[in-house]
Amino acid sequence: MNMRATPYFQTQVIGCGPGALGLAVAADRLKLLDSLLGQGIAFLEKAPNPKELFNQRFPFLIESNSIADDFFKSIDSEGAFSETCRNENSRLVFSREGRTLPLELIKAFMNDLTKAFLEKCCFSGASGIFFGREIDHLQIGEDGSVTSFNRSGAPIAKSMYAVLATGAGENLPLHAHGPGNLFHFLPSGEVLSGKFAEISREIASGKPIIILGGSHSAFSVALLILDRFGSRLSTGQIQLYHRGVCLYFTSQREASESGYFLPGAHIFRSTGEVNKFNGLRGRAKNLYQQVQSGIEMRVSVKGKNAYADFLAKAEFPALIIQATGYKTRRIGIINHMGVPIRNLHSNKNCMVDSQCRLLDSSGEILPNLFGIGIGYPRLSENKELKIGVNFFHGPDGETIVRQIVSPSKTTVSAETALASNSNLNGVPS
Ligand SMILES: Cc1cc2nc3c(=O)[nH]c(=O)nc-3n(C[C@H](O)[C@H](O)[C@H](O)COP(=O)(O)OP(=O)(O)OC[C@H]3O[C@@H](n4cnc5c(N)ncnc54)[C@H](O)[C@@H]3O)c2cc1C
Repeated sequence: MNMRATPYFQTQVIGCGPGALGLAVAADRLKLLDSLLGQGIAFLEKAPNPKELFNQRFPFLIESNSIADDFFKSIDSEGAFSETCRNENSRLVFSREGRTLPLELIKAFMNDLTKAFLEKCCFSGASGIFFGREIDHLQIGEDGSVTSFNRSGAPIAKSMYAVLATGAGENLPLHAHGPGNLFHFLPSGEVLSGKFAEISREIASGKPIIILGGSHSAFSVALLILDRFGSRLSTGQIQLYHRGVCLYFTSQREASESGYFLPGAHIFRSTGEVNKFNGLRGRAKNLYQQVQSGIEMRVSVKGKNAYADFLAKAEFPALIIQATGYKTRRIGIINHMGVPIRNLHSNKNCMVDSQCRLLDSSGEILPNLFGIGIGYPRLSENKELKIGVNFFHGPDGETIVRQIVSPSKTTVSAETALASNSNLNGVPS
């Protein structure tokens, strides 16, 4: 029997994606990174090793929806990531200021930041990124402490605070319920990462390619198919059905000048941007506008009601690409008695309050638990739901860091930490 005590950290973060990394970037910006690391923070990541983590990030062959600035503007270029900020990938990202950029480049940039952070963690001696740690659930102790467990029920780490940064997976509502013989449902992520075999067959047989959704992913699927199979496509062969399409504009004036119908649009109070979080930008926006103005005839964009018409006339089996949003990759939470605590949800996402604190199903704050990243949209004080893009280096990381780091506490030096802290050797997988 393993009698080793569960390793203790001040904070454990579940997941080590861009959201989690946002904590380190924010702490560095606030000059609190050494305190954060010195007080002990464990990043528990399910990818088995750094190589796998780096491979799995942004595997998509498309342009970002965010502009380059959203990825770099809040990094302190003189801080812990200064060397990364001067390397070739960073230079390429910075050169796209004000514009969208290939996600491949974001992947390289994000991986460089993670490598720099890994080194920084190794040096701190009290903190680390631990790979191959897939967390199944958290238990809140009577004293408010948090313990993480793997699927076999073994404790992994104990802490005062936990930050959930598990991201989100595709929400595929039709996958489970669709009559399998009539339809073949394909997740948009598969197409966006280059799986084209079925699409190629479908195009060769002259059938329509159906895309469900009106988001960046949906329009990016259409663009990728146009780029790949353009000359083989007939008029209207790509059919996109949506419940609503939002376009991004830098200002209300720009939106009005483009003839965009503003009522119902979301205006971001601090900057005046229109549909900052959910509006189409870059090539995706151009495609929508070209279809609307009749310049791009190979794609038709139709409202949801038209989908029923398609179903009535469809030639089966039909291929349908679902780009129907994302849902939190959830992990369980139980109280000290083992009773499950349910999170507050909105559109299949776990909600956090304006301070990024996790909420239970009745909207009460769950003490010491935070959420960051794509699966954990924040409701700001202005009641603006911040989802999808732009949170990475936004205020979320900063908000959490301010709550978990005590600047007054003396930072443990690397040597002292190494001598006194056996945590880093003891984190079970
Ligand atoms: C096609 C597409 C285009 C996009 N374009 C943009 C864009 O332009 N701009 C933008 O900001 N965002 C974009 N996004 C969203 C993008 O995915 C997020 O910005 C970013 O990846 C979110 O980071 P995250 O850390 O929250 O989640 P993730 O990147 O999903 O990271 C979560 C991490 O947690 C780990 N994990 C999950 N569950 C567990 C567990 N139980 N235990 C331990 N570890 C776990 C995962 O392995 C992963 O490493 C796009 C997404 C898609 C699909």
